[in-house]
Amino acid sequence: MRMEEKGQVTGKKKVIVATKNRGKLEEIAQLLSGLPYEVFSMTDAGVDGDIAENGSTFAENALIKARTVWNVTGETVMADDSGLEVDHLNGAPGILSARYAGENAKDEDKYRKLLKELSGVPADQRSARFVCAIALILPDGREIVVRGTCEGYIAKEPAGTGGFGYDPVFYVPGFGMTFAQMDEELKNSISHRGNALRKVLDILAEEAKKH
Ligand code: IMP
Repeated sequence: MRMEEKGQVTGKKKVIVATKNRGKLEEIAQLLSGLPYEVFSMTDAGVDGDIAENGSTFAENALIKARTVWNVTGETVMADDSGLEVDHLNGAPGILSARYAGENAKDEDKYRKLLKELSGVPADQRSARFVCAIALILPDGREIVVRGTCEGYIAKEPAGTGGFGYDPVFYVPGFGMTFAQMDEELKNSISHRGNALRKVLDILAEEAKKH
């Protein structure tokens, strides 16, 4: 069923998530399940091709993606951009987190490179944070950007098998675990993406009340 038809059948509002990542889409659909919104992917919305992420901040990149999709659909659109900032490396890998070890590198190559860059750096100087910016554009064109963070340290060795990306080396002192040692529910409850998404959900819940 086409996106327009599906929206008419359910009577729900549409939210298009500007991502190709199925995992993110499902996580967002799950979080939105109590609200009168239905989540669609870029492909469902008929937007194909890669969007150049050439901004200089997480917020700019999220907005570039959201605007590209909004310009085609005019529906509620959300897009995120995220990454890891390591204080000892002046915020690197930052917006380059996905490509830190080259375009086609595996997750393990990325975190191994990070461990190498930090070799010999003492525990108290390994502070880092995950950052997630989510850009939301409403049907009337209003643009809202929210930011979620999660503070931690880069461990000396990887630990855990869950998650993805830099999770095995991101240690959260309050829980005594890396992200990769947490179950999904715990990670979502404290993660940068979870924190940013909860802010977006509050905004969407308010919008739903208005109309
Ligand atoms: P993007 O937001 O999909 O562009 O993600 C950027 C990159 O940041 C990912 O490829 C990961 O390497 C890293 N990253 C973002 N969020 C997480 C996370 O929750 N855990 C581990 N790595 C992450």
